[in-house]
Amino acid sequence: MLGWSINLFRICGIHLAVHASFVLLLAYFGYEGWQSGGLVGALWSLLLITLFFGCVVLHELGHSLAAMRYGVQVPRILLMPIGGMAEFDRIPRQPSAELVITIAGPAVNFGIVALLLPVVWTDLWSTQPVAAHSVMALLIQLTVANGLMGVFNLLPVFPMDGGRILRALLATRMNYLRATYWAAMIAKVLAPILALLAFFYYDSPLLGVLFIFIFVVGDAEYRQVLRREQEAEHWAEWARRIEVERLRDAGRDEPPPPPFIVHDSNR
Ligand SMILES: [Zn+2]
Repeated sequence: MLGWSINLFRICGIHLAVHASFVLLLAYFGYEGWQSGGLVGALWSLLLITLFFGCVVLHELGHSLAAMRYGVQVPRILLMPIGGMAEFDRIPRQPSAELVITIAGPAVNFGIVALLLPVVWTDLWSTQPVAAHSVMALLIQLTVANGLMGVFNLLPVFPMDGGRILRALLATRMNYLRATYWAAMIAKVLAPILALLAFFYYDSPLLGVLFIFIFVVGDAEYRQVLRREQEAEHWAEWARRIEVERLRDAGRDEPPPPPFIVHDSNR
């Protein structure tokens, strides 16, 4: 599903790519802008969506640069119509590292809000409407969008940022697998409710699809942690058995054969 993507350029050593379906999003927003305001409306709409996704890239860069400080490799940031995703080669297990890496994303959005708020403050609360297609209208939209993006990502729906923060906090009190289990379990309850609300109450199919996606990847990430944990336990048990054999029979020439391990085909 994530295979069809176009590489744009490198930023801080990370490839920035857009999913092919992004073209549909641009076409949709361009068409909507055209219907409401002709060519100017279409261009305005495309400018807004480009700047919005520029902020998504900055959010993902926040995560990525924080992760790189912990030695994590970040080959790519992928933009999809439902949002951005920084691809890490691994996710640090220390709760403190996961907290710093996760909080760095929304912190970028709140940083942008803090920068823009003094500029837009008066017009934001003014009863006079702001001129359409003006720089001030653009800045107000960006301020609101970044505020919403920061808060939205903090929803405790694993693996969204809020869900990762929840997992890291739980991992300070229980083992990593259990912490992931509970974070994923809460997401499995919340994601369908939020998807239904998005589809039928807020009439936002894109948001609904996002929560279905979150539901699927959250479950997949829990299963991956579970599988790694089981494998680590399996090999630790094997190493322990070898040690017992070695101690019991010091004269034995060959170690016992390794046990079979079953890998899922989709690893
Ligand atoms: Zn994030």
